[in-house]
Amino acid sequence: MHIDESLGELLRQSKRVTVLTGAGVSAESGVPTFRNAQTGLWAQYDPHQLATPEAFERDPKLVWDWYAWRRELVARASPNPAHHALARLEKMVAHFTLVTQNVDDLHRRAGSENIIELHGNILRTICSRDRQEVRDWADDGNMPPLCPRCGGLLRPAVVWFGEALPPQALSAALAASQTCEVFLSVGTSSLVEPAASLSFAAVRSGATLVEINPDETPVSRIAHFALRGNAADILPRLCDMI
Ligand code: NAD
Repeated sequence: MHIDESLGELLRQSKRVTVLTGAGVSAESGVPTFRNAQTGLWAQYDPHQLATPEAFERDPKLVWDWYAWRRELVARASPNPAHHALARLEKMVAHFTLVTQNVDDLHRRAGSENIIELHGNILRTICSRDRQEVRDWADDGNMPPLCPRCGGLLRPAVVWFGEALPPQALSAALAASQTCEVFLSVGTSSLVEPAASLSFAAVRSGATLVEINPDETPVSRIAHFALRGNAADILPRLCDMI
């Protein structure tokens, strides 16, 4: 995949760069995207049916167990060259914001600092009643465990399909999208709102949109540069050009 030299030049001159990442960035770390088939025990379940408040209400143990499995998967995974390249890019740009839909913490582990987690973080746990973080709970066999403060069910600190995004994270992400010179949309299918609309907001505000994805997505038609391939291959090469 050839990367146009003008893109390297543009990034070199840009003071404000915002990046939106999705599950594709972690695919090469062995964390499956929702659109890829799941493996083993969980192959029979559709993640879109598990990552919902309705699923948790119907069968909280099933949803808790699925997240426990995903947490283990993430704990065993390591950041890949795409995560490392984005941490490198942050150091080269004056104002850099990384907006991620990923809940796997791999950007932080790779060294990225200015991160907006739009969909939460799988490593944290909250009470399903008051949404406050819970760090410790009794290991008395309850699945999900119960909140030590109020007895409510504990759940992962992630945003499920149909739930609202944390308003502060969303407004910070929108502001970063509307003020950047270059916006990179990496490894996201751009099907999940409102994250997908960030690319459109950036272009409307005059940013150059760069998409990195092996497949076309709904934002491809407005992208100024469409780099078709794996993020772990393209991002390090892009950094080398700056
Ligand atoms: P998605 O599963 O909808 O789409 C993934 C996209 O990544 C696809 O467009 C695919 O073509 C692309 N892709 C696959 N491999 C790639 C690679 N190597 N390099 C670049 N792109 C690649 O993911 P989404 O758009 O992030 O939305 C799904 C939702 O699921 C999000 O809300 C997210 O929170 C959640 N999710 C998170 C994780 C994670 O934290 N790692 C994993 C799965 C799903």
